[in-house]
Amino acid sequence: MYTFNPGPSAVYPAVRQYLTDAFDEGWLSAPHRSEKVTSLVRQTVADLKAKLNVPQDYTVLFTGSATECWEILAQSLTPRRSFHLYNGDFGEKWLKYAQAVRPASAGKSFGLDEVPDLAALPFSAEDTDLVCITQNETSTATQLREGFILNLFNRLNGTLLAVDATSSLAGLNLKYIKADVWFGSVQKCFGLPAGLGVMILSPRAVAQAKAVNDRAHYNALPAMLSQMLNYQTNYTPNVLGIYLLSRMLADREPIKAVHQHLVDRAEKLYAFFDQATPLQPFVTNPETRSTTVVGLKGDAALIEEIKQKAKEAGLHLGSGYGPLKNTTVRIANFPAVPDAAFEALVQFFAKEYPG
Ligand SMILES: *Cc1c(COP(=O)(O)O)cnc(C)c1O
Repeated sequence: MYTFNPGPSAVYPAVRQYLTDAFDEGWLSAPHRSEKVTSLVRQTVADLKAKLNVPQDYTVLFTGSATECWEILAQSLTPRRSFHLYNGDFGEKWLKYAQAVRPASAGKSFGLDEVPDLAALPFSAEDTDLVCITQNETSTATQLREGFILNLFNRLNGTLLAVDATSSLAGLNLKYIKADVWFGSVQKCFGLPAGLGVMILSPRAVAQAKAVNDRAHYNALPAMLSQMLNYQTNYTPNVLGIYLLSRMLADREPIKAVHQHLVDRAEKLYAFFDQATPLQPFVTNPETRSTTVVGLKGDAALIEEIKQKAKEAGLHLGSGYGPLKNTTVRIANFPAVPDAAFEALVQFFAKEYPG
């Protein structure tokens, strides 16, 4: 069975061996302030920076999930308000979490085939602490490209830029210097089981966290940052998750190669589904289509049938998300999904639904 679900998604087959090794090597009961665990954390942070091209002066923190990162950013980097650009469910949920903590936070939605117009952004840098975007909107299979993020970053004049990269972190070669906060969780492009989030902070973001000095939350950034100086966390961390991450990073090729592989595969997939297949890409603008999540649309009854038939052929297609649940399917183009799965997928459509 191949799964194309975009989260939780396919894990690397090697995870089976990593889990056995974690047990045998005593990681599951290792004290989290011991030299054994702090050196694992140090090595994992170093490998993450090296494999993903994260600048050396950026800080890496571990959290429980991407959702937790939304809340941490509202609590610890946003004394007044944040401004959110979104075009799908995850971006909108982030805005709602931010408003629950900082009610003055606001947002603006944009269309699936639209690149937001930066000249017309309704917020002022004077009273906004954080601008928030979702680099890859998993629910609508859309993406904000590098050039857009660069233009936005250059327009902000000191207001920090935060990027939810949950479904592209460890899949795409992100330009970390062009934003201040990047985060995601490991059950998407990392190809690992859920339960660990990764947050990456620029020196400017670290400075703002210190200035805001949130002390009111267990997961407040100043405490997380000072613990991380010793490769520790405030609470007992997910040591197994960090161990799995360290093994996965050691075995992976550098992000440039992973990125190119995903770009090539996405191009082939979009080209295939742009032809006369029963499903069509639902994002029509090639500039806004996601590389890592391919969204297809069709009639609800047909989608039901295709999902059922695909399942019988050993292919688990991802359902649509939120309001798009019944009229779309999503195909995760994540690094841990093997090429053989995509070959099987294309053969399935060619055989069952010949043009
Ligand atoms: C999956 C996802 C999340 C939520 O991740 P959790 O680890 O479940 O909190 C947030 N944002 C995006 C873009 C996602 O794809």
